[in-house]
Amino acid sequence: MRVAIIGAGPIGLDVAANLLAAHPSIRVDVFERGLTVAASVREWGECVTLFTPNELNVSPAMAAALERTGRPVADARACPTGREYVEQTLEPLVDALCSYNAPPSGGAGDAAPADGASAPRFRVHVGALVESIGRGRLRKTEAVAADGDARRAAEPFHLLVRDVPPHDGGAGARARRGAQRYERGFDAVVDATGTYDAENANGLGEGGVPALGEADVDAALRPSVAGANAEHAPPRAQLFRTIPDALGRDRAAFAGRTVCLVGAGYSAATLAVALDALGADGPSSVLWLTRADGAAPYERLAADPLPSRDALCARANALCNRADAPAAVEPDAKRAKAGDAVAPAARHFAHEAGATVVQLALDGARAQIEVTYATGGAERVARVDTLVALVGYRPDLQLARELHAHLCYASEGPMKLAASLLKASASAGGTSGGDCMSQAAPGAGTLLTPEPRFFVLGAKSYARNPAFLLRVGFEQARLVAELLRADADARSHEGPAAVVAGAQ
Ligand SMILES: Cc1cc2nc3c(=O)[nH]c(=O)nc-3n(C[C@H](O)[C@H](O)[C@H](O)COP(=O)(O)OP(=O)(O)OC[C@H]3O[C@@H](n4cnc5c(N)ncnc54)[C@H](O)[C@@H]3O)c2cc1C
Repeated sequence: MRVAIIGAGPIGLDVAANLLAAHPSIRVDVFERGLTVAASVREWGECVTLFTPNELNVSPAMAAALERTGRPVADARACPTGREYVEQTLEPLVDALCSYNAPPSGGAGDAAPADGASAPRFRVHVGALVESIGRGRLRKTEAVAADGDARRAAEPFHLLVRDVPPHDGGAGARARRGAQRYERGFDAVVDATGTYDAENANGLGEGGVPALGEADVDAALRPSVAGANAEHAPPRAQLFRTIPDALGRDRAAFAGRTVCLVGAGYSAATLAVALDALGADGPSSVLWLTRADGAAPYERLAADPLPSRDALCARANALCNRADAPAAVEPDAKRAKAGDAVAPAARHFAHEAGATVVQLALDGARAQIEVTYATGGAERVARVDTLVALVGYRPDLQLARELHAHLCYASEGPMKLAASLLKASASAGGTSGGDCMSQAAPGAGTLLTPEPRFFVLGAKSYARNPAFLLRVGFEQARLVAELLRADADARSHEGPAAVVAGAQ
């Protein structure tokens, strides 16, 4: 059985680890748009420290693969940075999984794959951006399972893949135009592409709609995504839509500059704390805009099971409330528009609660971004060198557009899982799934879609719901591997047409 996994993030790699261990006839191809595995996590660099310890970041299947090949498993109690997580766990995991390509020793469980016996069982294709998934010759409108038509299960999947040229990878990869090719012959596909990508960022304006002029500023400043312009001081205004590595690679975008940060999630808190940690090497001023009213944007949980998360929230709230923070913006919009105000002399943070971005514009030299925002019934304008928009992400719906993925109208995640999460959220009295630590994978049935053997796992399975945690994805990976193992087992006894694992 051939399985395509799209996305070599922690969940895609965990699916691979589970599948390779599950059945000797399963062969796995992983497609990753980055030039190395785990491009999204790698992009966090030093700036993001995971708030979960490694005991929640290293799945049983990952640990088993590492141990099986004599590699160390990262310290269970440590909370790694993005870079450490990649270097200590995800890269060694890929090396460990390559051991499945060694010729079988003849021992129990090492039987050669029944189909394509000489082909490697595990391959990672980096710089491979998957743009679309198809199912044989079937069109979207054909072979609808609800009509009792089972033809889809018998058709192999194919992927439309675009090469990402070597000078770029990670977020922004979609902007690069390499050659396209088809990859064919997959019995199952797992979409583990996450949502973390500048191209998937929510709009800054009211109701998630882009602010006036936002798309134009975005287009004019491209490709100023995290990691771009890393080697030189930024020549002009910068707009980030993923977390910049302010402590490392992207430091120049912040040193001595005026910064506007928009968002009130953990990503925004992480960046705010990092900017403060830069001290005298950091921005000359930071204006932090949050949507909700209230001076302290982060609700702290009583006895938070994740102490690093609680510490992050406490530090972020303290920054917002710092008594010595003077206003960082010129409240007189007309003066600010005339360009004679705003850049304050002293380093400071200022926080504006209940703020909605209304309009973005560039000054003539593209050296600064003019951010117009509404708060307390008035409009204000700030001119800044660097704007960081961390207001959440939406899933890329293009990938599975030709399949029968059946998505939820509220979250844009796969319907069965979304319905189960909404139900759990409603019974907890919340609107977005509650605290992420209370999340659990609600069973294999919720991972099925109307498209047989097509699965959406990991952060993308939660789509716009931000409560996803790695440990939920690890459980999803285990459940899907069980389904496909049963399928592979049945095929090896009865032939390929026998089973339809994954049909809902
Ligand atoms: C800043 C931040 C901090 C977080 N901290 C924690 C934490 O402490 N603990 C925790 O449990 N969870 C945390 N999360 C939530 C979640 O666990 C992570 O987002 C995690 O990286 C999700 O893993 P994933 O494999 O589903 O997606 P990702 O890590 O996003 O991986 C997806 C991969 O797919 C690739 N890709 C995307 N599109 C394509 C395509 N079309 N073709 C080919 N490849 C593609 C990407 O380059 C990427 O490598 C955090 C999230 C963020 C954003």
